[in-house]
Amino acid sequence: MADTAKHKVVTRFAPSPTGLFHIGSVRTALFNYLYARQNEGKFILRIEDTDKARSKMEFEEDIKGGLKWLGLESDEFYRQSERTEIYKKYLQKLLDEGKAYLDDKAIRLKNPNKKVIFNDIIRGEIAMQTDDVGDFVIAKNLDEALFHFTVVVDDFEMGVTHIIRGEDHIPNTPRHILLQEALGFNTPNYAHLPLILGTDRSKLSKRHGALSVNEYRAQGYLPEAILNFIAFIGWNPGGEREIFSKEDLVKEFSLEKIQKGGGIFNIERLNWYNGQYIRKMDTGKLAEDLLTYMPESWQSKAKESSEYWKKIVSVEKDRISKLSDIKDGIDYFFEEPEYNKEKLSWKGSSLDKTKQHLQAIVNMLKVLPEGELSPEQIKQAVWDYVEKEGRGEVLWPFRLSLTGRDKSPDPFTVSSILGKQKTIQRLEHAIAKI
Ligand code: GLU
Repeated sequence: MADTAKHKVVTRFAPSPTGLFHIGSVRTALFNYLYARQNEGKFILRIEDTDKARSKMEFEEDIKGGLKWLGLESDEFYRQSERTEIYKKYLQKLLDEGKAYLDDKAIRLKNPNKKVIFNDIIRGEIAMQTDDVGDFVIAKNLDEALFHFTVVVDDFEMGVTHIIRGEDHIPNTPRHILLQEALGFNTPNYAHLPLILGTDRSKLSKRHGALSVNEYRAQGYLPEAILNFIAFIGWNPGGEREIFSKEDLVKEFSLEKIQKGGGIFNIERLNWYNGQYIRKMDTGKLAEDLLTYMPESWQSKAKESSEYWKKIVSVEKDRISKLSDIKDGIDYFFEEPEYNKEKLSWKGSSLDKTKQHLQAIVNMLKVLPEGELSPEQIKQAVWDYVEKEGRGEVLWPFRLSLTGRDKSPDPFTVSSILGKQKTIQRLEHAIAKI
């Protein structure tokens, strides 16, 4: 390993723009970013668009947009399609020195057919024979260098000290080292990251909930949660602590603590992390961010009475795991709930009895002062009655008349937000229904 104290660390994220920015690639970008920041080095974004047929600008935009949203800003940016002259110079050099040659259709490296040994920071020593790749193609012609060649030239030209990339590139590394030797470059440090697998240990796919970064963004995942979650796939600082901000990760990250075995992508974990970060958000900010995830009619109501909306958000904040969840559980705050009257009675209780309970609650609420009531005030007003008649007996119909839902926050919280008038109105509506 190079002496990082003397040499400035330079890392790079080098995606090929042939598809959307996928969650699996985020880890490669993140680890390169963390390692560079931790060593006060440089983090480079390099778009590897040598495959002209498959590379698309829209994918490059998607990658750049995703990195920006995640806060993984790079210090330098390059696009391989703009570096043809540089590659040409080195191709010519190899040709002149007789280390490469032009056959019918391509430029090939003269393979010394030797055993290549390199020391991977994560996997230790790796030795591979190179005979099987033969005199492999490094360019179509002087103006069209190909992947193996451009990677090696760029890493040298950009002063990359640490190549942190997916384990799927291990088979490419011997070819890269042969090229480095032919060109007279030093071999950088390699760290090949373990594969990311689904919970069933098969190759990660959509089926496991693995999506593109932008799709997560659209569903209301927070960048901090994604980074925290991703960092823990195949890496662990040891200890119990799970919540790490980007700054914490910069401090704690280490290549040596990356595991060799595949890292598991578990969407439940991501949801958990996201929930944790939502709970940490400022309620005002959250209230604003949540607006776009709701139907328009609710949005305008929420904007009209922002205090009402903030109260809803302060309750839902503990219940949702992504921002788009908000629309699933709060219809009753914006619309009159719909339900069948049969649903109002608690297990095995009669509708007559239920009606009595609802009426009793109405009477108890009516004598409370006007204006804002806290959940505790409401609870206190009805609690003796609830204890006497049975919690389920009373609280179930109370809550159901307000929300129409099997699951929702408790009726005290809901009625405190709805307000005394509206609460009584809904209870009376339920009584009338019976
Ligand atoms: N462009 C390659 C890819 O997208 C990465 C090459 C590298 O990291 O060396 O898989």
